[in-house]
Amino acid sequence: MTSLATLAVHAGRDDLAGLGVHVPPIDLSTTNPVPGVDSGGAAYEALATGGRPPADGGLVYQRLWNPTVARFEDALAQLEGTDEAVAFGSGMAALTACLIATVGEGKPHVVAVRPLYGGSDHLLATGLLGTTVTWVAPDGVAAAVRPDTGLVIVETPANPTLDLLDLAAVSAAAGAVPVVVDNTFATPVLQRPVEHGAALVLHSATKYLGGHGDVIGGVVATTADWAARLRRVRAVTGGLMHPLAGYLLHRGLQTLPVRVHAQQATAIELAEWLRGNEFVRRVHFPSGPLVGTQMSGPGAMVSFEVGDHAAAARTVEAVRLITHAVSLGGVDTLVQHPASLTHRPVAAEAKPDAAVLRMSVGLEHADDLRADLEYALKDAHR
Ligand SMILES: *Cc1c(COP(=O)(O)O)cnc(C)c1O
Repeated sequence: MTSLATLAVHAGRDDLAGLGVHVPPIDLSTTNPVPGVDSGGAAYEALATGGRPPADGGLVYQRLWNPTVARFEDALAQLEGTDEAVAFGSGMAALTACLIATVGEGKPHVVAVRPLYGGSDHLLATGLLGTTVTWVAPDGVAAAVRPDTGLVIVETPANPTLDLLDLAAVSAAAGAVPVVVDNTFATPVLQRPVEHGAALVLHSATKYLGGHGDVIGGVVATTADWAARLRRVRAVTGGLMHPLAGYLLHRGLQTLPVRVHAQQATAIELAEWLRGNEFVRRVHFPSGPLVGTQMSGPGAMVSFEVGDHAAAARTVEAVRLITHAVSLGGVDTLVQHPASLTHRPVAAEAKPDAAVLRMSVGLEHADDLRADLEYALKDAHR
């Protein structure tokens, strides 16, 4: 098998030399000339029901298919080791499509393991899409599955606790029910959930896949069957990815392994340093038997607890090099207070501790990040 680093650089680009170009063209066409009434109609039918474009029918309309986005999907599927991938306008649009597809199959019950990303928790808790949810601990999945259960949803590392969950165990407990794994934090560089029994791998592509904080997108890597269902939902509901986003994300994948490994190396240093800091009560950073097996390394997200809510607030307000902002996975380091921002809509019993801060470690030099954290922590505890 070609190594991940090589796939990241070349996947989705096989035909470029034949086209006489070195980087992918960006196809912005909203509509496409229809070659004939019959073949055009057949293409419309195929694409609107989730199929791939027929050889002779044209692409019809951008909501149904876009070649630039398809390149990104193809590349991401190769990195995750799945048949196909389907891209959406955001990570939430990707999760929405999974839920709509499940409700459409007459299986509106979802089993979800907390903690999840705040927005995912919110979407499930409100039942806005006609789903009902049973929240469980990882060992409660098997008991919660019912005949109308359409999906099991998990996230590992979890947000913002960075707890790890055993995907093989959850997949076994789910039985025939498909498991969706939000792989945003780990990326396929560190973890490929389908190797542990997952049916669907979801990303907020906004984070590490793009990697530069300039594009919002979502993607689900999965089987050909599920991909067709998701494309049908996308065609009908319109939660599609713009071709410029597809281009930027495809480009982002080329440096994904290098970025993730470098950011992880700095995160390991900072987690160690934070553990020894007098103002830090506790550091959350992936460890234990699943690191080195399910996940090849701990990743580049570090959460840490300071004294209390007030000290946490003062710390994020005092950083000068690091940016106080939501989101993650970019080349610059961000820190935020989950209880008041990303996890604000989460029910009280599942809300993160108010003393927790979540940091996405970027590509700056570790010494500079350490100096900034040291300054902010001191300033917050004056
Ligand atoms: C950001 C995020 C999402 C939502 O993605 P958007 O692209 O913001 O819609 C989902 N899951 C995780 C883990 C995230 O960090």
